[in-house]
Amino acid sequence: MSAQKFETERTRMVDRQIAARGIHDPRILQAFKTVQRHEFVPVEYQSDAYDDCPLPIGYGQTISQPYIVALMTSNLHLQGTEKVLEIGTGSGYQAAILAELSGEVHTVELVPELASRARERLSLYTNVYCHLADGSLGWPEASPYDGIMVTAAAPQTPKALLAQLVENGRLVIPVGGRGFQKLEVWQKRGQAFTTESIVHVAFVPLRGEEGWDKKDP
Ligand code: SAH
Repeated sequence: MSAQKFETERTRMVDRQIAARGIHDPRILQAFKTVQRHEFVPVEYQSDAYDDCPLPIGYGQTISQPYIVALMTSNLHLQGTEKVLEIGTGSGYQAAILAELSGEVHTVELVPELASRARERLSLYTNVYCHLADGSLGWPEASPYDGIMVTAAAPQTPKALLAQLVENGRLVIPVGGRGFQKLEVWQKRGQAFTTESIVHVAFVPLRGEEGWDKKDP
């Protein structure tokens, strides 16, 4: 498929899947027009890269549906200067979107092959730092963060992540069972947190210490 055809499909994705569903922040729409989603999926799925669905990326993992990436991103309320943490680098697509919209991105992946492939794809971004680790414990080395996004489903919100937020910082995370979860938005207010559930989602499980490995391996 030609670069021109991919661009046409990308514009259509932004109009029909993201803007038409209520996300109108011009910075977010521009980020989705800029990032070449087809370069983040396996070659055999490139012609489906702009479809309204998640796609396999190997190792039993998936790149999320574009609208869900946009919805999670919009709930971080990024202005451009923030330090952000993503748990679950996967393909690196969400990290690229965050890199377009914030000052500094730390992204953590548990599967070595996915982490190294994503690191290559993200090498054009000087503000992205890729880490191979158990992200259910966050990445304390660079904390605190203005925003944290978890792109795998947690049995409950890891305390370690909440502890790595700045005052008024926001955490977006799918919480629930292995099959379906609620997308939750947490905000730190002094010693307490506000929390709100925004939509039902279906993510692959978060593994590691604070994920499903200990709870139900
Ligand atoms: N954000 C990704 C999609 C994530 S799929 C993208 O844009 O493509 C969920 C990812 O979380 C998978 O790659 C999986 O390996 C990773 N993951 C699961 N548990 C993890 C953990 N404890 N720490 C870091 N990554 C984890």
